[in-house]
Amino acid sequence: MLFGRSKAAALVTVAAVAVGCGPAAERDRAEPGPGRPRVVATTTVVCDLVRQVGGDRVAVDCLMAAGIDPHSYKATPRDADRLAAADLVVASGLHLEGKLADLLGRLGRKVPVVAVADTLPKDRLLPIAADLHDPHVWFDAALWSGCVPAVVEALARLDPPHAAEYRQRGAAHAAALVALHGELEARIGSIPDSRRVLVTAHDAFQYFGRAYGIEVVGVQGTSTESEAGLGDINRLVGMLVERKIPAVFVETSVSDRNVAALVEGAAARGHVVRLGGRLYSDSLGEPGSVGDTLAGALRANVEAIVAGLAGGVTTAAEAQQIATPAAAGG
Ligand code: ZN
Repeated sequence: MLFGRSKAAALVTVAAVAVGCGPAAERDRAEPGPGRPRVVATTTVVCDLVRQVGGDRVAVDCLMAAGIDPHSYKATPRDADRLAAADLVVASGLHLEGKLADLLGRLGRKVPVVAVADTLPKDRLLPIAADLHDPHVWFDAALWSGCVPAVVEALARLDPPHAAEYRQRGAAHAAALVALHGELEARIGSIPDSRRVLVTAHDAFQYFGRAYGIEVVGVQGTSTESEAGLGDINRLVGMLVERKIPAVFVETSVSDRNVAALVEGAAARGHVVRLGGRLYSDSLGEPGSVGDTLAGALRANVEAIVAGLAGGVTTAAEAQQIATPAAAGG
């Protein structure tokens, strides 16, 4: 959907969040050439989508760097300039970029703003509250392919001479996402039924669980803005112990604190839980890493999950080491 005039134009809190400018290669790709539309995309996941559809025809500027949590991200004064200079702004939507909503709403009066996940059929979305849907739709590759047409059409409107090329690239990318979906489903299906439980830092993986047939338990709520209580931690430790779940997972854009508490809690009750690896959640990896595209990130996640949940039981000494905060990773 386009953010329209109806959106309340409240002042957005402008905070000096250190974002960094990214490596030189990233910046070069964003340099607009003659006739190249300049597109600002909010998250790394959305950046990947725009790059896949736009190819070299568009200059993509990623607002958030790799590792940034989009739920809590606030625009810097420089961001506001970058957004205002764009020919098109592409956001994820469904309130993922909660703190940018007012800014994007105001921007929508001057620059086309497309929130890709808002274009998905509502009956495919997971409700989390009245009028609120889980925003983490990219974890279902087939569902995310439904966001491709919004980008294709926005680019075609912006740059009509190359519309056919955007349609062709969009169709190829959507097909690749659907093929990836089948591949991920088969890999998750290889985990024994009883162990097919994904415990992670925040509740980002509900679409992933629905798509690939794995039970998902988040320590925090759907947004990283909510806090996990001691009761939540104790309840989850009980589940890990009772069901002998061998691994829990940390995420790239979320604090490890809660997950480390689970490992420690289980160790105190004599059950060894491994840290199954760091999953890409609301951010893709650094440019050049295996997770710098959504396809790469989803594949890396699935391999970490398969390895963690299929893994054998660790020794008590290993558990002690795992339970120390230093070993929980930074
Ligand atoms: Zn999230």
